[in-house]
Amino acid sequence: MRKYDYLIVGAGLFGAVFAYRAKKAGKKCLVIDKRSHLGGNIYCENIEGINVHKYGAHIFHTSNKEVWDFVNSIVEFNRYTNSPVANYKGKLYNLPFNMNTFSQMWGVRTPDEAKAKIEEQRAEVAAMLKKQGVAEPRNLEEQAKMLIGTDIYKCLIEGYTEKQWGRKCNELPAFIIKRLPVRFVFDNNYFNDKYQGIPIGGYNKLIEGLLDGVETQTGVDFFASRAEFESMAEKIVFTGKIDEFYDYQFGKLEYRTVRFENEIIDTPNYQGNAVVNYTEAEIPYTRVIEHKHFEMFGEEVYQTPKTVVSREYSTEWKDGMEPYYPVNDDKNTQTYLKYQSLAKEQKNVIFGGRLAEYKYYDMDDIVEIALSVQI
Ligand code: UDP
Repeated sequence: MRKYDYLIVGAGLFGAVFAYRAKKAGKKCLVIDKRSHLGGNIYCENIEGINVHKYGAHIFHTSNKEVWDFVNSIVEFNRYTNSPVANYKGKLYNLPFNMNTFSQMWGVRTPDEAKAKIEEQRAEVAAMLKKQGVAEPRNLEEQAKMLIGTDIYKCLIEGYTEKQWGRKCNELPAFIIKRLPVRFVFDNNYFNDKYQGIPIGGYNKLIEGLLDGVETQTGVDFFASRAEFESMAEKIVFTGKIDEFYDYQFGKLEYRTVRFENEIIDTPNYQGNAVVNYTEAEIPYTRVIEHKHFEMFGEEVYQTPKTVVSREYSTEWKDGMEPYYPVNDDKNTQTYLKYQSLAKEQKNVIFGGRLAEYKYYDMDDIVEIALSVQI
């Protein structure tokens, strides 16, 4: 008899939702994490009375009512709506691409005028691709130009994307840009999903609620005592890097990481919005996050005299850094598939989350999967 039913490696959202369900099903779990805190990348640190998203901004959005009801059963969510602003060479544009953006870009006033402008640019690109015998956009650059035209691609996509991914837009998969909505209404809501918000009191409340009554250990590295940990439980839920789990036998997967430059500023309201993207290539950071706007609205912003901002610098991941984004290009996908075929044979291990599945998941995807795996 082993001591635990499940050893859960990683106290991020996948591990925490799984642990919650397993506990409810009467299973005995141990959750371990090598960091000094629980919550993985949704962990927040309170600075100057503000919940600072320590590992990058997280905005929960979903169209799945079951997922939304589940997270709200753990903690109530606020009415935050993500509406980032892009700064290109000092001029501000609304995101995602909508009538506000089109009117700022071209001075157009109606949806028909905007459509005509985009269609004109799209037609040129389509003609060029046709001449080359290309049926479907092969990469992010082609996809973006076909979606929204050349002007917006140049001002709001090209520089930002190449900074974020450290790769040329014509070397990146098209699907990345399909995340962004295009709308012919004046609507700056970044997401198309039916539900969105931030947990009232911050993400730590969500994690604490999920892991309430579950045995946890932080500052513990699974790989440092692997054999011992593996002998403790009937099954393992692994949420770390899948290539590390298999000792990098097929080579290393690549990730992007983010370096945050945090600053406490002696003003209550620095940029008037939670997210401002800097879309030109010449500015080294991708975006500036002002954390208080995730949880303080309108006059509430002035309730704390200071503010905390994070500038995000995107770089290639190296050993010792935190991996954030899987790089789902062809080369990495091929490598991942080899690891995945090993994982499929591994009956006593459940692999879940962005790192173990090497997928650019959002939080709601993670919750959905963690709610559906068999306990
Ligand atoms: N993107 C862009 N310009 C922007 C914001 C996003 O070109 O101002 C592109 C970029 O390629 C990025 C992708 O859209 O990788 C997805 O952006 P999202 O904001 O969804 O990324 P996340 O918040 O997950 O980093």
